[in-house]
Amino acid sequence: MKDCDCFIGFLSGEKINKLNIHHIAEGISDSQSNLKQYGLIKGDVLTPKQIVDNRRGYLSRFAFCPYCGEKIDWKEILNKF
Ligand SMILES: [Zn+2]
Repeated sequence: MKDCDCFIGFLSGEKINKLNIHHIAEGISDSQSNLKQYGLIKGDVLTPKQIVDNRRGYLSRFAFCPYCGEKIDWKEILNKF
């Protein structure tokens, strides 16, 4: 099913799919820099690439799309960051 915009997981609680993951990751990075301006974040603002890094704990990933059952190629998705 090529026309499925596969639902691939959650990023910081937001539903993500193959098409919006970059947009959501950029939004999180932008809101971190806003918070940082007011001193509400200590340490570094994360880049979108760091935000989608599984080890940071923002990302909850599906192995398979719950709509069409296609296996999600995380390597390919993360390589685009
Ligand atoms: Zn799908």
